[in-house]
Amino acid sequence: MGEELFSPEEAMPLGEREQYYNEKVRQVVQFAYDNAPAVKAKMDKAGVKPPQIKTTKDLELLPVITRDEIIELEKANPPFGGLLAVPANSLYRFIYSPGPLYVPLGSTEYARSAQKILHAVGLRRGDPVILSMPNLYMAGASVEDAMLLDGMVCIPSGTGNTELQVTMMHDLDIKGFIGTPTFLMNLVRKAEDMGYDFKRDFKLNCALVWGEPLLPEVRNTLEQDYGIRLTDGVGVGVGLDLGFDCGQRNGIHITEEQFVEIVEPGTWKQLPPGEVGALLVTGFSNNAFPMIRYMTGDLSSLITEPCPCGRTSPRFTGIMGRVGDSVKVRALYITPRQVQAAASKLPAMSRFQVVVSRAGYKDQLTFNLELADETIDRDKFFQELQSSFQDNCRVRIDKINVVPSGTIPEEHKIIVDDRSWQVKSA
Ligand SMILES: [Zn+2]
Repeated sequence: MGEELFSPEEAMPLGEREQYYNEKVRQVVQFAYDNAPAVKAKMDKAGVKPPQIKTTKDLELLPVITRDEIIELEKANPPFGGLLAVPANSLYRFIYSPGPLYVPLGSTEYARSAQKILHAVGLRRGDPVILSMPNLYMAGASVEDAMLLDGMVCIPSGTGNTELQVTMMHDLDIKGFIGTPTFLMNLVRKAEDMGYDFKRDFKLNCALVWGEPLLPEVRNTLEQDYGIRLTDGVGVGVGLDLGFDCGQRNGIHITEEQFVEIVEPGTWKQLPPGEVGALLVTGFSNNAFPMIRYMTGDLSSLITEPCPCGRTSPRFTGIMGRVGDSVKVRALYITPRQVQAAASKLPAMSRFQVVVSRAGYKDQLTFNLELADETIDRDKFFQELQSSFQDNCRVRIDKINVVPSGTIPEEHKIIVDDRSWQVKSA
């Protein structure tokens, strides 16, 4: 089922999309090199000149930039660390990100991704919306600007005084909410404490939640019990809103305002769709502060199959862990999140831990577990575990060990790397 889109560019044919990304990447690299001294210095140090970057694949030639590096650059050379690429007197707005990290914004173009996100949420001109994210930060600023651009009615409410917020939601017929899922849940519970019947007494029926992970049980409760349709949004604090999940709920659609790579930590080479690696973003919508291969530190994987919603953009799966937590086994990265997903289907198991070791020249993956139910058919259970693990982690378990209850401590790492040669990644 197709969805109503904000802009035809969201459905551009794949060949055209590839050309689009190549062109945008060429432009941003050339522009940043010519105008942002810190970008030029990094590229010169890597021995790369802009004409070498012709396609998105060529991004592999360029160094990555981390949040910590931006903070250091800004500290050494305040206020923007040589990353500002337009005249300071032409700036539109500043946002802040803890660090401190200051992000200059060149024009409302930076909010274009947020415009698409709000449209996907279901918000339209004239709709009154509670904005509980502070607009000092990217998440609040971009949606505030997107609402202004598209004629929604913004009520910047912050996260204090829930009773007043519930009263406003009721009295002003608020339709949408933007903020964290936790705060939305607080508002709904508060409304109940105040004697309201949420579904009957409120018009609130859609929400953009971001700023924290959206847990499936929270989503179910808010959607089924309270009739609020949730859209999961993902942004990064450096002036880029990555995207949102559409009605299919199968990954985060990456808006056309950036190109996302999933790469192997350390070598920073691009990985094929489906493989887990570090997420890098190259942004196109804020020339004032060009972000090229910005590393969020999150692990994810790409989905490139067409989506029934009609958007042709690639998607990324949810955040599957942090770069430092991943462990490489036989050329594939596995993360604690993947192991947990594999285990979640097997209630007979209580605690578990994956140990990666070295046997000769080969990686050995051992799955230690404690059983919650000792009476189960073990052979059948081992088969189920093996198959669930391979589905989620794409790696085979070499050995399954049932250990006595209490052997695995309550506070433990999900994956332990016992290989002595292991080099710490990023
Ligand atoms: Zn979709």
